[in-house]
Amino acid sequence: MNAVPFLRPQLPSLSALGAYYRLAEEARFFSNGGPCERLLRSRLSDYLGGVGCVPVTNATSGLVVALRAVMDARGTTELPLVVVPSYTFVATAGAVRVLGHQPLFVDVEPAGWQMDADALADALSDHGGQVAAVLATHTFGTPPRADLQRRWQAVCDAAEVPLVVDAAAGFGATDDSGARSGREATPHVYSFHATKSFAIGEGGLVTTLDEDLLARVDALHSFGFTEGRIAGYAGINAKMDELHAASALAVLDTFDTVLARRRAIAAHYREHLTPLGFRFQVGNAGGTWQAGYVTAPDPETRTAVLAAGASGRVGITAYYDRPAHRHPAYADAPRHGPLDVTEALAARALALPMANDLTAEEVDRVVDVVVGAARGV
Ligand SMILES: *Cc1c(COP(=O)(O)O)cnc(C)c1O
Repeated sequence: MNAVPFLRPQLPSLSALGAYYRLAEEARFFSNGGPCERLLRSRLSDYLGGVGCVPVTNATSGLVVALRAVMDARGTTELPLVVVPSYTFVATAGAVRVLGHQPLFVDVEPAGWQMDADALADALSDHGGQVAAVLATHTFGTPPRADLQRRWQAVCDAAEVPLVVDAAAGFGATDDSGARSGREATPHVYSFHATKSFAIGEGGLVTTLDEDLLARVDALHSFGFTEGRIAGYAGINAKMDELHAASALAVLDTFDTVLARRRAIAAHYREHLTPLGFRFQVGNAGGTWQAGYVTAPDPETRTAVLAAGASGRVGITAYYDRPAHRHPAYADAPRHGPLDVTEALAARALALPMANDLTAEEVDRVVDVVVGAARGV
């Protein structure tokens, strides 16, 4: 039997992206906001319901420019701390560190695996006057319930601390109110990495409804240029070139089918694994399903499932099994409390295979391996 890979990334065909790339060739304009990049900005904005969009080289550089923009706009740049959940990919904390700030790790809540609003409020009051920004995440790209998103915003507003959202895996995700994420004044950052559901290789996006922040992000991602080639800000180069923009335009053409397929696979996993005590992230029906994220009923079952996957040649792995605060680079970063929920999730987390073209037979094999392992514990 063939192996079932963990992920089987799929980028647009050369002919699909070539249809767009011709625009750049005809214009002899290959970066710095060429025809594909400009078209992509407007198509992404339409897809999200009308919001300012800045395509970037990847989400990590998008986080750097979005954080810089909000901190400069609020005058918090000199403050040392940026609050982040630890139950995330290390890039979230990495963006904070390269800007010269220290991540202050907070816990998540157990049902949605999202940053805990009470922990956030406590962390902000314990470190009053020391926090430059809050960098929340949409865990695994899934937006939190609309009321939790409002709570984060209210807590940040009350503390007069700016908020940025790392929604990297979540381009196209909707929350429980049916709203697509990213259409807010608060900047949201997305990844178009080869392994995300919206896949172009390397790429990303920053969105905001705030005109001042949009102008800052736009300048900061292009050397800080504000007028012509005058650097009004100290910026970096995070511009998306035409080849990647053409690729993103081609992805957008079939993206609703991609999301529908991934959600259908996830629904199959849910139907078969929930009765055995596996738990899925609350709110994930509107998620983008970069992988089949689930928690095992207990750490022993997780170990058994990982072993069964290895011996059955089914690519099952675990994500955030080492949360950010337990990576050597961040071992010395401050934490708010013991991060109990993060530790409990990390000990049970599993990531099941996912691909746009995962076949019904492959999905059944994944389920068989997980069910067999769980029954044997
Ligand atoms: C994928 C991911 C990133 C990094 O995205 P890149 O485009 O590869 O830089 C950052 N944060 C989270 C939460 C991610 O899942």
